[in-house]
Amino acid sequence: MEKKTFNTGERQYRRVYEPLLPEYYPIKLIGAFISLDFIVGCAFNCSFCISKRHPSRKELFERGLVIDNRVAPEKMYHWLKSLPSYQAGVQIRIGHDTDAGLEFEKSSQLIDLIDNEHSITYLTRKPLNENERDFFAKYRSNLLLKLTTTPRSKSLSITRDPLDLVHSAEPIDNKMLYWVVGPLVNDNQEDTERILKTLPKGSRLFLKNLNYYGLPHLDQVKPLAEQDYKRFEQVALDQGHIVTEWFCDSLARVNKGFFDVDKIEQQPDSPKKEREIAYCKSCSSYPICYTPLDVKGFRDQLDKHLEFLGLHLIDEPRRTGNRSFEIKVAEPSSRGEETYLNHVINPPVSININTREQGRSQGGSFCNIDGEVLKRWYQNGFFPVTELNNVAENVLDDIRRIFGKRGYIPKTFSDNGGLALECKKCK
Ligand code: SF4
Repeated sequence: MEKKTFNTGERQYRRVYEPLLPEYYPIKLIGAFISLDFIVGCAFNCSFCISKRHPSRKELFERGLVIDNRVAPEKMYHWLKSLPSYQAGVQIRIGHDTDAGLEFEKSSQLIDLIDNEHSITYLTRKPLNENERDFFAKYRSNLLLKLTTTPRSKSLSITRDPLDLVHSAEPIDNKMLYWVVGPLVNDNQEDTERILKTLPKGSRLFLKNLNYYGLPHLDQVKPLAEQDYKRFEQVALDQGHIVTEWFCDSLARVNKGFFDVDKIEQQPDSPKKEREIAYCKSCSSYPICYTPLDVKGFRDQLDKHLEFLGLHLIDEPRRTGNRSFEIKVAEPSSRGEETYLNHVINPPVSININTREQGRSQGGSFCNIDGEVLKRWYQNGFFPVTELNNVAENVLDDIRRIFGKRGYIPKTFSDNGGLALECKKCK
């Protein structure tokens, strides 16, 4: 493990970086997406935010700090273009670890650089200002704004009127919008109904319950009862909205299919499944997503791409659905590799690799990625590991200077009296 010393002017620190660096990469290969961000931290510090689950980020969020990672949009684009995952058509996600609205300036420049056959999802909950509205008012076939509007709630300390965001998005083409309404809890029902009755007819939306996982301070918050959830679903349908947890038609807008179509098809029979299948039938990618798979052709492609990744099968792939397979490999692997395979194979399939790291929904994070995986990516050119390590080192230096100068070393960064930035979780 690399150890360096440096001096901030106030005290000398010893660097013990490696386990934490990937968590601060400006680009990450995560499940289903290439995520990228130009900043670290968030000004909003929402009580229910899952991005602050990572222990090393907690203090940044609590203080509403946002640190620019000093990556220019042109540089980000250069790295993106070099990624086999980008070339394979993996979707780009801006605002994964923060709110994209806080990095609009650089993000908008990057969006203009990216070729329009690459699908981009932009995640924000911030009401759009005039500049943002002007930018997003231009129709872009490859761009989806995933907007989260949160009903006011005393128990979640949400005070901003959710309709500020709804009204601010009025100039934007509905095809570019996907709404997340939530988190829904027992005490924000009045606003939930207001949102559903104000969104333009035909809005695509997901009603999102509060996710308590990893947020013990919310244990006392009363959840929304199941019958109330169903009532809101009906309100949304009565308003002519499309209620779906999938926003894969953003892929259809760039003439691609969805690798995880089995998650729609394999649901138990229900009105929700019927609605989602009916929506698929109206989607331009229906033939790509639902054509039967040529298994021999799939197997040939799988072997070729596993060879490129440096992964070796130790068993025959197990088919778990029309378009889903589980594979066992000898080496540690990652969600980024799964996602690459899902997209590079034609037609798209869902591949689950036995040795991948845990995802965020399981309490994992990108710094759980195995060092052997990063080494392999460095060697086969799958990811610009060295360059991204440099960016992450600079970000961590910034964090240390900010907290160090205030005479405060965040305790979750350190296990040795504030001498090292290190994540306890990674030990
Ligand atoms: S056909 Fe269905 S699964 Fe495929 S992209 Fe369209 S909505 Fe998604």
